[in-house]
Amino acid sequence: MDNIKLADLLFPDVKLTPEDLEVQYPPRELPEGARVTRFAPSPTGYLHIGGLFGALTDVLAARASKGVSYLRIEDTDKKREVDDGVSAIIKGFEAFGVEFTEGVTGFGTEKGDYGPYTQSQRVEIYHTVAKRLVENGHAYPCFCTAEELSALRERQEAEGALIRGYFGKYAKCRDLSLEEIEAKLAAGLPWVLRFRSEGSEDRRIVFEDLIRGKIEMPENIIDEVLLKSDGIPTYHFAHVCDDHFMRTTHVIRAEEWISSVPKHIAMFKACGYRVPKYVHTAQVMKVDDETGDKRKLSKRKDPEAAVSYFVEKGFPREALIEYLLTLLNSNFEDWRRANPNADAMDFPFNLKKMGTSGCLFDLLKLTDVSKNVISHMKAADIYDRVAAWAKDYAPDFYAVFTADPAFSTAILNIDREVPKPRKDIAKWDEVPAYLDFFFNEPDADPALLPERVSPEDAKGILACCCAHYEPGEDKDAWFARMKTWCPALGFCPEVKEYKKNPDGFKGHVGDLSSVIRLAVTGRTNTPDLCTIMQLLGKEKVAKRLNAFAAKL
Ligand code: GLU
Repeated sequence: MDNIKLADLLFPDVKLTPEDLEVQYPPRELPEGARVTRFAPSPTGYLHIGGLFGALTDVLAARASKGVSYLRIEDTDKKREVDDGVSAIIKGFEAFGVEFTEGVTGFGTEKGDYGPYTQSQRVEIYHTVAKRLVENGHAYPCFCTAEELSALRERQEAEGALIRGYFGKYAKCRDLSLEEIEAKLAAGLPWVLRFRSEGSEDRRIVFEDLIRGKIEMPENIIDEVLLKSDGIPTYHFAHVCDDHFMRTTHVIRAEEWISSVPKHIAMFKACGYRVPKYVHTAQVMKVDDETGDKRKLSKRKDPEAAVSYFVEKGFPREALIEYLLTLLNSNFEDWRRANPNADAMDFPFNLKKMGTSGCLFDLLKLTDVSKNVISHMKAADIYDRVAAWAKDYAPDFYAVFTADPAFSTAILNIDREVPKPRKDIAKWDEVPAYLDFFFNEPDADPALLPERVSPEDAKGILACCCAHYEPGEDKDAWFARMKTWCPALGFCPEVKEYKKNPDGFKGHVGDLSSVIRLAVTGRTNTPDLCTIMQLLGKEKVAKRLNAFAAKL
């Protein structure tokens, strides 16, 4: 067979050679040991939390080695694609501060010298490599129709063939003569380009996965499709060309791709390319609420499978990243304790410390991490973030919250920026309810009064506060003032004393503040009451005290 002639016949328009591509995309000049990693999603308009997990691995693995990470869009499967399926993915990364060194940066935009980074724009590259494979006898055109292929499937099923697909004796087009091919092409028959596998059923292939160790599998014997009948490559072929010409050193991807490694290695070798290092990461799992079993996070069943969920709920990016890092490397928490203020992206991430069994994504743990992260934020920072979140997701709240930024910042600052800050906010969507009583009159429920305080006594406390409250006083002075009201009301000014002689009093000074808190905020538990009252001002406080008294 004259392969050169066949290649020209199949690819008359290909003018470049693989050597030209080698010049255009030279090996990268990077320090010894630097890793080049890539995240390669299909543009489905959806970013799965497992995708963020994978992308974070790519970025950290590259960063920790002073290497390069890039974002490549794999849009060869038109069936899975949606219009502008890229922006949602990019937005997800932006929201959580995951930044690639190179690659696609938005719908139709990119950065870096190894592009284009979108597969549909790289067809010339794939055809150039494909032509060479034909020239070398590693690929051939296949004219089998869909009917013929399904007949083949049925035949293999009937025969109980252990290996199914287009290979060996089933590969009808593998040994067509040049004349036969010419005739079919002349007749305008559609064709796909197939890989001519040299694998053997009785040989095995061993490769090293950096986190799983040596993996042994049967060699690939299938003549996989490289180019579909429209000339678009399959994922398998496209990624081989891309990972070579983008000079990827580490292919980090989900474990579901392990079974494809033998065919990928065969393709890299047939092209004459160095096989990259492989890392197949564990899946992100959850404990099913109903069955209690561990299962994969599902796009259909679990809202938290989508990265957009965390944006909508308003989890700060640091919290999600921080939590994902604890799943990625078990020593992250130790490092965090030793480096409380360091940027999480500077964590000396170690690929080899990644786990191989599914890692459990636990929303409750994320919530704890998030409360902790938020408790250390400055009020002004929280103000900006809540405003940005509310603008998109709670427009009514946004209007009241941003009407007086100084007031909103001050209320966020209560019990904050102190040695032991409160940990009561886990995400921004909790803030409207949390701050509600600052903006709206509370509807305090008399049933929430302390048990030992009768409605009559409560009224007395409220009246006393109304008459004698001095907003200028600090916390200590305010508490001292409440104590002075106690004797006339029949309450004990000192908790200790009350405990010694509970029958001698109606209650103690703490009950006074409970009643006042309930009237002013509608709650039994709030940040510092003295500051809350100061920020609300004497007039509003008096109004609320009276309104509650009227209900009793
Ligand atoms: N485009 C593939 C996917 O959507 C990426 C696989 C890989 O990273 O090699 O899963």
